[in-house]
Amino acid sequence: MAAFGTDLKISRSLTSRFAQFLFVDILVKILHLKGGAIFVTNVVEILSKLVACPSVNPMRSDAWAEPFGEARLVALLTSILTDLGADVQVAEIAPGRPNLVARFVGERDDCSLMFEAHSDTVQVADMAISPFEPVLRDGRLYGRGACDTKGPMAAMLAAIARTVGEGKPPLTLYFASTCDEEVGATGATGLMQSGFRPTMAVVAEPTDLNVCYAHKGVLHWSIDIAGKPAHSSMPDLGVSAIYPMAHIVQAIETQLQAVLKQRVHPVLGQATISVGLVHGGTQVNVVPSSCQALIDRRMLPSEDVEQATAELQHIVDEVMQGYPGAEARLEPVDYYPPLDTPQESGVARMAHDAVAAVLNSASFVTAPWCSNAGVFSAAGVPSILFGPGSIRQAHTRDEYIEVDALHQAVDVYSDIIRRSGDVSYVNGNDASA
Ligand SMILES: [Zn+2]
Repeated sequence: MAAFGTDLKISRSLTSRFAQFLFVDILVKILHLKGGAIFVTNVVEILSKLVACPSVNPMRSDAWAEPFGEARLVALLTSILTDLGADVQVAEIAPGRPNLVARFVGERDDCSLMFEAHSDTVQVADMAISPFEPVLRDGRLYGRGACDTKGPMAAMLAAIARTVGEGKPPLTLYFASTCDEEVGATGATGLMQSGFRPTMAVVAEPTDLNVCYAHKGVLHWSIDIAGKPAHSSMPDLGVSAIYPMAHIVQAIETQLQAVLKQRVHPVLGQATISVGLVHGGTQVNVVPSSCQALIDRRMLPSEDVEQATAELQHIVDEVMQGYPGAEARLEPVDYYPPLDTPQESGVARMAHDAVAAVLNSASFVTAPWCSNAGVFSAAGVPSILFGPGSIRQAHTRDEYIEVDALHQAVDVYSDIIRRSGDVSYVNGNDASA
């Protein structure tokens, strides 16, 4: 775009300076030789490769040619992890949408630690920077995914490269990268459906280097109402699908919302509901025969899908009794389970102790968003979230991550791997399943 011409010129010159910096860094201190293969262990170098490899979530469209789909990034990850000595398995969840699991056998192979980082990013339309040309400026690396979640992913990979160079990890170490986290979490769900169950998991998301142990779940429903079309001059001949939907929406606001406000978690706050989208009808002079609403429900750890759906179904059924000619169908569309891993659990203490050891202080936090950690946790894998970067920079027009935080995260992830064999961490997870 013309408006960004000057910026692009600056970016190009910075990119070439960045390339020089990388070249020197590569020669002097980044690479080490092992068994004839060359391993890239510098987190900035790894992240720039990941950003330059598009993996945009197609957001339920059929698009999977570049920049859509996670296959290219998974091919790059396969090459990096194979060079590091991992046994790498790739499984397609949908065409062009693979999951990856890399395995490093540990001193103990009966227990395992999973590092997981989703491979997809959000869309790149309307970005103010070039999404796939990593630029290093003022101590930040810019590009789509730099923060969410290729930066945290690069830090995990750099930590793995560093620690496997020291010998076998104490526990078998998995690095997993799942597709489609941004819409539907079909990758993480597919991984759990495969029966794969590591002993505990650390999930890479931008948590500002804090240990995130809890977040709400998200349940999305669709309500579809079918009526009967008629000419609007004779509305009695038809059955409007919009009038009953209007009453359902009103009952959600006045009845259900009031109930949910009474349901409060000590740290996560209230359960909530929000009608996000309503569309119906075809034109102004036709009685509308269809109407759809999409509804967002934020779930507390104490709630479940069946109970929440039954509450909404009750409202739908009550309203529809007054509209005998119309039919309503309520269906769950997406579900991301809540996360509520106890701070005393082994995985939470392990991460907290590592952060405290490396950064001299550590904090437990909760998140206002949801994540794959909820999916793993619901499947019985005790999980926490940790990573560099702030959610404030995720999904933005000029997404970036602070390079200092990347380096700190490499140190923390490395420390987590080294301390993962401690039996109090391994055996201390019963309460969080
Ligand atoms: Zn993310």
